[in-house]
Amino acid sequence: MGSPSYRLAVAITVPSTGEFLVARQPRPPSPPEEDEDYRRFVDSDLYDLPAAPLEPLVGEPRSEVAVAGADSATGLDLSRLDVSAALDQIFDRFGLPDGMRGEWRRLKYVEEAEFGPDAGVNTVFLIGSLVSKLDGLPESCKWMTKECALGLLSEAKPGSDRIGQYAYIGLMNSRLSSNSTAVPALPSQEFPPGITLVPMKSKTLQPFRTTNLVVVRATNGAGESTCSDFFACGDALLLDPGCSSQVHAELADLVDSLPKKLLVLVTHHHHDHIEGLSVVQRCNPDSVLLAHQNTMNRIGKGNWQIDYTSVTGGEKICIGDQELQVIYAPGHTDGHMGLLHVNTNTLIVGDHCVGHGSATLDSRSGGNMKDYFETTYKFLDLSPHVIIPMHGRINLWPKHMLCGYLRNRRSREASILQSIENGAQTLFEVVSKTYSDVDRKLWIPASFNVRLHVDHLNSQHKLPKGTYCRII
Ligand SMILES: [Zn+2]
Repeated sequence: MGSPSYRLAVAITVPSTGEFLVARQPRPPSPPEEDEDYRRFVDSDLYDLPAAPLEPLVGEPRSEVAVAGADSATGLDLSRLDVSAALDQIFDRFGLPDGMRGEWRRLKYVEEAEFGPDAGVNTVFLIGSLVSKLDGLPESCKWMTKECALGLLSEAKPGSDRIGQYAYIGLMNSRLSSNSTAVPALPSQEFPPGITLVPMKSKTLQPFRTTNLVVVRATNGAGESTCSDFFACGDALLLDPGCSSQVHAELADLVDSLPKKLLVLVTHHHHDHIEGLSVVQRCNPDSVLLAHQNTMNRIGKGNWQIDYTSVTGGEKICIGDQELQVIYAPGHTDGHMGLLHVNTNTLIVGDHCVGHGSATLDSRSGGNMKDYFETTYKFLDLSPHVIIPMHGRINLWPKHMLCGYLRNRRSREASILQSIENGAQTLFEVVSKTYSDVDRKLWIPASFNVRLHVDHLNSQHKLPKGTYCRII
């Protein structure tokens, strides 16, 4: 998987006012031709600590930047990395005045958990204190208190300004390091507050190796909401325990560390989302499983023997002070569910999207292209602040990502139609023409998608006469 890369994030603080500096984050590049969806749906502004890549030092160490605590025992030798160049880049990129350069102290070092498919990005956090606020701050930057930032994060409203992960993990998360759970063998990431992602080894499709186990816990330790308003209540929620047997012992330790009043939700029935269900049941026979009926019909008694509660979408769930809403999200399968974390306006999307590349649809389990498009628009209408896929990293530009999915599907569908119009005779011929840019190993799952695109084209009466029966 290669070696990790590094990033430097800086917290510039004014202790006398309790504020720190946040910078508006650059948006991902717009698509070449602005499509209608992309104009209609726009992500709100994202503010975070200024950050830049931290490259290995080439040549002699430079002395102009002194970092107190640089040699502390956190497993990283900062003198091997070009802190000076990264700081220059941060100051240039965000237009920060030179008066903000001063004494830097090492705040935290956070190793990223294994989200994949590439090696992790580990973050070094530095903190510098100013006596007072400086003039000449660029328009894209502002001062903010931790309370204000935490409010924007955990009482999030669709369309409001957003706060990114560096500010939370570096400054607001009270734990020294955010990369540890109660089970040290399982590196994890808590962001947004209340949601912990634990990427666990699973038998999933390449290029990924892990499935994100999502753990939702109350942040104030006790429930505030009256349970009668909710479909289901618990003290913790587990989502998609899909890890392979290699790490079932670690999963058992994690379940043992959670409160006994446990809810479990599976987004869909694929084995890389449910393989650890039997472990959860063994460790906590009182846990309550929530899933769509179509999903339960496919899970089978071998994985879950006790009772379950079927959900259809719209159900509200309460985990202490955390509120969630189940979202019916068919497309990947016909029982596929998403989950909205209301406090932080974060959308957990199951396999509808993945952290890198594109998602596949399962035609053998009711996967359907029309549903997939409709679910994508449903997700866009929710204006989520963060998207959490079950494979790969979180995404902080949800609308950009979802519009990209729509665009890719449309262009794939157009090229499938074109290859059929140009005389492709069989499903294999269509796949080999339209996925020629994709690794051959992925042609079999791709063929499921092609079949569904052909169905979708047929339902819109777009196929040339007589071709549908030949290809399907
Ligand atoms: Zn799946």
